[in-house]
Amino acid sequence: MKDKKSWAEPYKIKMVELLKMTTKEEREKALVEAGYNTFLLRSKDVYIDLLTDSGTSAMSDRQWAGMMLGDEAYAGSENFYHLEEVIRKYYGYKYVVPTHQGRGAENIISKIMIKPGDVIPGNMYFTTTRLHQELAGGTFEDIIIDEAHDSQSLHPFKGNIDLKKLEQIIKKYGADKIPYVSMATSVNMAGGQPISMQNLRDLRKLTNKYKIKIIHDMTRVAENAYFIQVREKGYKNIPIKAIVKEICSLTDGATMSAKKDALVNIGGFLALNDKSLYEEASNMVVIYAGLHTYGGLAGRDMEAMAIGITESVDDNHIRARVGQVEYLGNKLVEAGIPIVLPIGGHGIFLDAKKFLPHLKQIQFPAQALAAEIYLDSGVRTMERGIVSAGRNKETGENYFPELELVRLTIPRRVYTQAHMDVIAESVISVYKNRKKIKGLEMTYEPKYLRFFQAKFNKS
Ligand SMILES: *Cc1c(COP(=O)(O)O)cnc(C)c1O
Repeated sequence: MKDKKSWAEPYKIKMVELLKMTTKEEREKALVEAGYNTFLLRSKDVYIDLLTDSGTSAMSDRQWAGMMLGDEAYAGSENFYHLEEVIRKYYGYKYVVPTHQGRGAENIISKIMIKPGDVIPGNMYFTTTRLHQELAGGTFEDIIIDEAHDSQSLHPFKGNIDLKKLEQIIKKYGADKIPYVSMATSVNMAGGQPISMQNLRDLRKLTNKYKIKIIHDMTRVAENAYFIQVREKGYKNIPIKAIVKEICSLTDGATMSAKKDALVNIGGFLALNDKSLYEEASNMVVIYAGLHTYGGLAGRDMEAMAIGITESVDDNHIRARVGQVEYLGNKLVEAGIPIVLPIGGHGIFLDAKKFLPHLKQIQFPAQALAAEIYLDSGVRTMERGIVSAGRNKETGENYFPELELVRLTIPRRVYTQAHMDVIAESVISVYKNRKKIKGLEMTYEPKYLRFFQAKFNKS
């Protein structure tokens, strides 16, 4: 329905969850207890929760009905076969191993494909993806185009891969040291930025030449397909379903966090086209999660996922989903707030370096800004900057990423347009008082994925 002028939610609301408002004093106390880390806040102290779009979506009545059809057999659950059928139909991958969430699939693919000393090129790192590659003995190399590191570049496909960078890596290490290219659709850490079909086709050509596989992080593949539909030549009249399937057809396998695009609260899978790799994966999942027909999920979870995948590739759904994100983004742009442009698919990313130019990166500007927004209104956001980037595994030095961002992630089908207005008002009011915002120092640093559990104090 692309000819309609404005989007509207293609659903109506049947059940509501009441929100809790808090006072500034209550929020101040909660923030100190959480060590200025929004991950450590209790959800009862949060008003509008934009921490993540992961597992926070609203399921449909059909998904809830599907939960009642859970076939909780230990082996060979009917829900597994439904899930497998849906994945084959919409994504085209041949073999499926369910996992409890995306990182379960990342663990398995990294363990079966990466040898110590291998190099895994990818279009920007993702926290858990890179960690599993490193724990398997590999090293991640960033091959995303330079524009992705520039928050103000208006390149329509900032998730694209720089094929020259990839070719240099192949020449430097040799193709036999590269088990696969780790290609993400809707690159999360770049601000939800898409990869174009043309870039993917060129990547396929180059990797075929060197016999290198492509493993697709398909967590937000439908959102990427939407941007191809509206921005790439020749796709205007192609349905999302067909674009999604074409993307997948250019890759050899995929890891999926179904907690994002696929509209479930828990679940994921590993999908592969190669039978022997699949056999290894289905053997490996038995060690870490459970039999290869449930992978740590209940039958009802697989049923909800199968139905969620079907709903996620609907044109009206995805237009409203991204439309809501763009609505919020445009409000902030109009108010002169520095955000990552173009507006991405799953959230708005505030540019904390530009928002708080008086802070050095080592004072954790994005962390401080996320804390300040919470204090102002009870809206919970999260840091995507130096804290998330962690340390170099060899030297122990902090990574200083170009992008120092606060992510306002929009859960799917959960909040209304009026909520978007309230969020914008809060960010604008924090922006007006930005000069008073102080930096932070880290008082507790966990060894892995520190952003989840680190604690801070005002510096
Ligand atoms: C969330 C996410 C993952 C990890 O998935 P989990 O379900 O959280 O384990 C991997 N890649 C991307 C791009 C993600 O956004």
